[in-house]
Amino acid sequence: MAGIKFFKEDNLPLEMHKVRIVQKLNLLPIEKRLEAIKEAGNNTFLLRNSDVYLDMLTDSGTNAMSDRQLGAMMVADDSYAGSATYYRLEEAVRKFCGKQYMLPAHQGRACEHILAKTLVKPGDVVPMNYHFTTTKTHINLCGGRVEELFTEEAVKLVSDHPFKGNMDIQKLIALIEEVGAEHVPFVRLEMGTNLIGGQPISLANIKEVSSVCKKYGILLMIDASLITDNLYFNKTREEECKDMSIAEIALAICNCADIIYFSARKLGSAKGGAIVVDDKNLYDQMKVLIPIYEGFLTYGGMSTREMEAVAIGLEEAVDMDMISHGPEFIKEFGRLLSSYNVPIVTPTGGLGIHLNAREIVGHIPGEQYQAAALAAAIYIVSGARGMERGTLSEEKNPDGSEHIAACELVRLALPRRVFTLSQIRFVADRIAWLYENRHLIGGLRFVEEPEVMRFFIGRLEPIGNWQEELVKKFKEDFGESL
Ligand SMILES: *Cc1c(COP(=O)(O)O)cnc(C)c1O
Repeated sequence: MAGIKFFKEDNLPLEMHKVRIVQKLNLLPIEKRLEAIKEAGNNTFLLRNSDVYLDMLTDSGTNAMSDRQLGAMMVADDSYAGSATYYRLEEAVRKFCGKQYMLPAHQGRACEHILAKTLVKPGDVVPMNYHFTTTKTHINLCGGRVEELFTEEAVKLVSDHPFKGNMDIQKLIALIEEVGAEHVPFVRLEMGTNLIGGQPISLANIKEVSSVCKKYGILLMIDASLITDNLYFNKTREEECKDMSIAEIALAICNCADIIYFSARKLGSAKGGAIVVDDKNLYDQMKVLIPIYEGFLTYGGMSTREMEAVAIGLEEAVDMDMISHGPEFIKEFGRLLSSYNVPIVTPTGGLGIHLNAREIVGHIPGEQYQAAALAAAIYIVSGARGMERGTLSEEKNPDGSEHIAACELVRLALPRRVFTLSQIRFVADRIAWLYENRHLIGGLRFVEEPEVMRFFIGRLEPIGNWQEELVKKFKEDFGESL
């Protein structure tokens, strides 16, 4: 909980939960970490988690569950069709977003698959505040293209704008006028905008986008995967939301949209996903695809235990004490890094901390994957694994050249309620050391490059022996290998 006054401490974020289950962690010596990252092709996705000390890769499916969630999992009704569990989840989803019809899916990208297949035709254009990797791929695979209509503030890495996830309304109107509303199957707004640093959208902006969509008769779709962080920021940063409850803000946001979908690996802190609509026709169109790709209509590829956990997770998603831990720990992480002069994306958002790799390792050419190189170096010096969010996460240009990303970031995600403040201070301290020795970090090149979504399974190697030099300097400075 933020805002609790301390006597001697600087006002710290304070947990409103206690920890009753623990999991032992490994901190390997640095020589072993060097071996592990080489084996993983310098791709943090390919590390074995037993070689990782703090897994800050993602918040997907890694948030800590509550005692209520674990308890609910024990009363799951395991029937293929018509399970009581399904109806409990449907009710929880209705309560959260105020919409009538729910389609279950095994995770967020499965919802995107169903939505793109149903709505996107070749030549279509889908405007969004910012793309997400799997969303864009599904739209492209259906012959559509994505247009990102972010505001100027969105890609300013150093900013004090409270809502960098906002959509530029003038750009939206201009695009619809240019391509024609009939070629715009829907507008997509992503809550807690993932790829620009977990940055929120204001309720006011969502309402404006909604009125433009209504005017042109275009559907508004909300990707609510990261809505809990967004809700926290609406409540704490937006005047209009100050006196609303979190549940009321969630309903006000969802009311603006025709289609809501989410990954329950994030929203709901369990595993799964769902699409929610009010329009029976649209529901019927999508309904036929669920048994083909996901599973029967009353589970959609989810286990009933996970569905029970999602239902409770949705109740907890409107509890300020449960959703504030992420943004407040991230803020403290950011405060520490800034105090060590490490360039980060500001203001800090949800999801995790984002390091500005382009500034930290600007001596590495863009084609040598600055952020991926920095992510590998962070693992080597700290045992923490983050994720590249930059050029490597982009698809190449049609002519085969690199598409240099607008932002070159390393994300260290904070799965909700998982890490302690001392663990965060440890990582910040190691990054401070790395920052002072950043000239030692070099570039990477592909040795195996998949054609689609190469960041997931591509393998790279360091250019030169910079990683050995880094290890050598670390052992000199710390006098040991841990
Ligand atoms: C994670 C995520 C998805 C995809 O969800 P999965 O469950 O990982 O398939 C979609 N949109 C956003 C904003 C996400 O963060």
